[in-house]
Amino acid sequence: MVIIGGGPAGLMAAQRLAEAGHRVQLFEAQATVGRKFLVAGHGGFNLSNAEETSRFASRYGAEAARFQSLLTHFSPTDLRAWAAELGIATFVGTSGRIFPEARHKPADLLRAWLGRLRALGVEINVRHRWLGFAGDHGLRLRGEASGQEFTLEPAATVLALGGASWAKTGSDGAWAPILREAGVAVIPFAPANCGAEVCWSAFFQEKVGRAPLKNIALRTDAGTTLRGELMLTDYGLEGTPVYALTPHVRAALATGQPATLWLNLKPDLTPAELLARLRQPRGKASLADFLKKTLRLNAPVPTLLREIRPEVATLPPEELAALLQALPLPVAALRPLDEAISTAGGVAFAELTEGLMLHRRPGTFLAGEMLDWEAPTGGYLLQGCFSTGTWVANAVRQWLAERQAPLLGKEGM
Ligand SMILES: Cc1cc2nc3c(=O)[nH]c(=O)nc-3n(C[C@H](O)[C@H](O)[C@H](O)COP(=O)(O)OP(=O)(O)OC[C@H]3O[C@@H](n4cnc5c(N)ncnc54)[C@H](O)[C@@H]3O)c2cc1C
Repeated sequence: MVIIGGGPAGLMAAQRLAEAGHRVQLFEAQATVGRKFLVAGHGGFNLSNAEETSRFASRYGAEAARFQSLLTHFSPTDLRAWAAELGIATFVGTSGRIFPEARHKPADLLRAWLGRLRALGVEINVRHRWLGFAGDHGLRLRGEASGQEFTLEPAATVLALGGASWAKTGSDGAWAPILREAGVAVIPFAPANCGAEVCWSAFFQEKVGRAPLKNIALRTDAGTTLRGELMLTDYGLEGTPVYALTPHVRAALATGQPATLWLNLKPDLTPAELLARLRQPRGKASLADFLKKTLRLNAPVPTLLREIRPEVATLPPEELAALLQALPLPVAALRPLDEAISTAGGVAFAELTEGLMLHRRPGTFLAGEMLDWEAPTGGYLLQGCFSTGTWVANAVRQWLAERQAPLLGKEGM
């Protein structure tokens, strides 16, 4: 059994197959496995989410129904039990997100996991790149140290090659042309969970630089609204609500127009409450002082308002209230793919059986981010990779068992 790709999806498939008694050889192009997994660790290491299954599955958008079943085979509860078995205790944060306890570093989890895989007899070959297919069942590989190419004919293969962002971790999407050449439809990659670009003035870039806006809401034209914290940067916007809205922004930009995100700077006040505060006498106070006193809106809010509506200081309370709760931020583009936390696009599900095996190559199964699904941050990405890794391991076992059954039958005759 060969697994290509040592990210969370490939490692999980390796564990499950080795536990079922299969000999597993894993090949990874980089010098170490789990590089993107460790990068995820630097950003808070949000392993999963404690949401109830159907809400959790809805995070996968068009693939919600598929993930509903995938999650029942390896759920967030299973993920916590798996981590606990490796000696990594987890906790559920106030937002429902699941994290390892602070005393466990991401590298501790990976180390314990690799220890378990070794104990199960998984053979991990780093610095080995998969180059493509050889005939109907074979794989072409190259040892990066020796430069030597060789072929293998495994009973089954799991490809878990990742998406196409953070190329330095190995997730470079270089596999896409190989699969396309084999006739497999790969939906073009696009950045997901990434920042958005706004063409700020030079003055704004210099004055604001990088500044957080806490407790805001962000809305799309279609009305999807998310609460959270926004980070203004010299190139545009970052932050969880922006990341989660990237599918909407991408769809709007595809029409060739800038996409507008509507910023609500006071989402906890009703329009009437906000207006009542803004109707208080301003006297000779500047807009900045007035907003600070009446609404506790500090820098960089006045600069931001002026950037979007230069005449903001002279607006009547009604218009100012409307602007504070729906400030149009014109997004010109999403940030480059390589910076994105995850990748939209990948191998189309139409190319796969329910067990995630390629129709065109029986015996080749796919898992993880290389498949055409996307989800917001919040633990849904890693859980999706763990769940698809587990799913293909089960599917591989079933496929092999079905192929062996007739042979055994014949032998018995
Ligand atoms: C900054 C950042 C923060 C993140 N934070 C979180 C988070 O908190 N929570 C969360 O759920 N998710 C997070 N993620 C996303 C998560 O890390 C990924 O979704 C996950 O790692 C994808 O797993 P995977 O196994 O599908 O692919 P990967 O982890 O990308 O692994 C694929 C592996 O395949 C190898 N490979 C590729 N091509 C070949 C080849 N031809 N031959 C051999 N090997 C090959 C690569 O080198 C790589 O090691 C974060 C990502 C980033 C970038």
